Formats: sequence, structure tokens, C-alpha cells
Amino acid sequence: MPPPDPDIGLRQAAIAKARELQKLFDEIVPLRVLQEGFVHEGEQISFGSFKKGIHRARQQQGPAALTILTTAPKPGRPPPYEDRIDEDSGVIEYRYRAGSSEQFDNRVLRAALELQAPMIYFRGIAPSQYQVVAPVFVVADLPDRSAVVLEVGLPHADTQGNGLVSSPDTRRYALTLVAARTHQRRFREEVLAAYRQKCAVCSLREPDLLEASHIIRDGAPDGIASVINGLSLCAIHHRAYDRNLLGIDPRGEVHISERLLREIDGPMLGNGLQQFHGAAILQPRRAADRPEPERLEVRFEEFSAAAA
Ligand SMILES: [Zn+2]
Repeated sequence: MPPPDPDIGLRQAAIAKARELQKLFDEIVPLRVLQEGFVHEGEQISFGSFKKGIHRARQQQGPAALTILTTAPKPGRPPPYEDRIDEDSGVIEYRYRAGSSEQFDNRVLRAALELQAPMIYFRGIAPSQYQVVAPVFVVADLPDRSAVVLEVGLPHADTQGNGLVSSPDTRRYALTLVAARTHQRRFREEVLAAYRQKCAVCSLREPDLLEASHIIRDGAPDGIASVINGLSLCAIHHRAYDRNLLGIDPRGEVHISERLLREIDGPMLGNGLQQFHGAAILQPRRAADRPEPERLEVRFEEFSAAAA
């Protein structure tokens, strides 16, 4: 049995607030909201400075961290993640703060292991946008790698009694969900940014209607969640692309299916689809962000086959 954590009430209040924000913001919470912190026993408590990775609140009685953080990748750069999700083993490796393993931040991380204290994990997804993961637990210390191992608790898991209550299988499942959502979120952010928050076909600029679509389909061996395999499309053009009613050839030219071109059905069809036949898609400014022609070609063959 781990020693009792004097902060369990405070942790529960923090996690309750984190879950409320997850729901309210569909998991990705803006920094300004997180900076407001939460209230416990009438006191305003900070989720952290969001400048350093490991946070223990001033009001805590116990020695263990309350929140941990990783920062977002810089636009157009590979993620400088201090953490690494291993979907096979079902764990996250979270790196110590640089410097001595005995410094304060790293000690509060190891205290979280001793107490099996539930924490909140803020994963930077884009500038000032954090995926909120709660609860997470430190389950092992890897001093040789200057890291600890984290596991994700089920969102509805009971944090009462400050122990790990879920089985390894359910924890692995919870982690897989987090990893999948993280990939999707990051893919969406990268793709929409590359296309300057516009639909590549019609230039619509409404974030609520924009989606990141895969060129080679998600789930296919080459269907990677990378900007070179992505297109920013509005909901209608995404659906049309998915259903092979709209194709994009390797040069980036839009093709509307023969069937839709023959139909006469009002302004949505004419203005929304038919008029883009033969138009060039909007391309990202950076060459490295543009869709790979080989990928467009593979997908275009599917469109052509569907039309035949
Ligand atoms: Zn569109």
C-alpha cells in the first residue's frame, strides 16, 4: 500500500475541473482557460505556470506533482516532445526536467510514483492549446533514461483511495484512445495550418466546417497522419472526396465525377461542386507541406476506377 496522500481532496477537485474543461472544449483547452486554475476549499489554485513541465501547487501539503506538461511543436518542425507514447507497450515515457535528477521538479515526479497520486497531464497540441489527459499516474522510474513511465487512467476511473484502480488492459485501452486522439488532433492542426485554414477546393474559411482529410486513406499501410498525406477540406468536399464524387489528380486538378456533372439539381450542386471541375486546388506555401503527387496519384486511381 502506498503511503496516504494528504492532497487527495485537492487532486479530486483539480481532476473534476479538468474533466469539466475537457467536455466543454472537446478535450483541447485553450491556455487562457487553464491559467484560471481551479477552486478547492474556497482557494484559487494554479494548474501550473505553463512555462515548465512539472508543477506542484503552493497549497499542497504532500510532496507529489499535481500536473505535468509538454509543450507544442513549433509550426513546421518535428515535435520536440519530451514525451513519447508507445502504443505497443501501452505507456508514455515522460522525461525528467533537464539537469540533476535530484532537483525539485524531478523529486516531486518521483513522489507521485511513491504515493500513486493521480495527476493531470497537459499535452501541447498547438500554440496555446493543450490536450487535457486526466488522471495519469507515474508507474515507474527510469533513472538511466532520465524519465518516468506514465499510464493513463480511465476517464471515469475512481480516484478515491489514490490507487490505481483500473486493470492493465483498461489502462492500455485508455492510453490508445489518448494516442489516437492526439494523432488526429495534431494532424488536423498541421493540415489546416498548412492550408491557411481554408478548404483546398473552395477556399471556405470556417474552422467549424473544415476537416483534415487523408489522401491515402486512414488505416491503409501508407495512410499516415502527416501533412504530405493531408488535405484541408470543408465538410462537403471532404465527404465528396471520401465517396469518390470528387477526385484530385497528381497535378492538383479537381475532377468532379461524371455522374455529378450530368445532374441538374440546383445551386448547391452547381456552385458547390460542378464549377470546381478542372480547377486547381489551393496548395500550401511551403513545398514541404504540399501533398505528395505519388499519394494523389494512388488516390486518384481509386476515383477513376469508381467512375468507370
Ligand atoms: Zn470546400
